[in-house]
Amino acid sequence: EPDLVNTNSIDYLKNCIESNWVSSGGEWVKKFEKYLCEYTGAKYAIAVCNGTVALRLSLYLVGVRNGDEVLVTPSSFVATANAISHLGASPHFIDIEPETLTISSAKLNNRLETIAIKREGFLFNKRTNKRIAALLPVHVFGIPGNLAPLKEISKKWNLPIIEDSAEALGSWYKYESNLIHCGLIGDIGILSFNGNKIITTGGGGALLTNNKFYADQARHLSTTAKTPHP
Ligand SMILES: *Cc1c(COP(=O)(O)O)cnc(C)c1O
Repeated sequence: EPDLVNTNSIDYLKNCIESNWVSSGGEWVKKFEKYLCEYTGAKYAIAVCNGTVALRLSLYLVGVRNGDEVLVTPSSFVATANAISHLGASPHFIDIEPETLTISSAKLNNRLETIAIKREGFLFNKRTNKRIAALLPVHVFGIPGNLAPLKEISKKWNLPIIEDSAEALGSWYKYESNLIHCGLIGDIGILSFNGNKIITTGGGGALLTNNKFYADQARHLSTTAKTPHP
């Protein structure tokens, strides 16, 4: 449970109300995103209304569309698979490894060798004829998944990685001899600030990425996607 007693929460809320800024914009959201970047080392953090929306938006940004398949762990909170379904795509479950509780790279590799085929620059499942559009590992209970071998597989098969780091704020792993915050090895990572997470905003989520294109698009699409016109 969150512990809000003896924090600055009341002062901050009072400041929001007195300044009349209680919208999705404003100084507090910008500050929150800035602190997320400073703490995690991400180049960009984009706050959204919850972790599920962050997942769905991330999957969309790397190209997941209606009718696609997404390779995902069966051992997670249901929101992970829901976000895939919200796009009209199907979860394609790959078994986990006991050490990290995340997708087993050995099992993923076997599975792809058995069912995947490259066609016109895309990856397809020979059995379902559906496009395999992304890989979605989860850092379960904040335990960093073993991302290095998954990254190798993603390069080999040209599969974007979305990291569900909803439970992993403050979790780091060693990658190419650097300590990297969970969510920043794949293309986009997501966080949740629901009431049961590491820190909470009541309800909330964020995308973390080092990719400027994804960051700009995430900001555009999460704020009504307005374009300039005469
Ligand atoms: C909480 C959680 C989510 C969803 O976050 P919400 O902010 O509740 O939408 C997604 N994935 C995992 C692993 C979670 O624990």
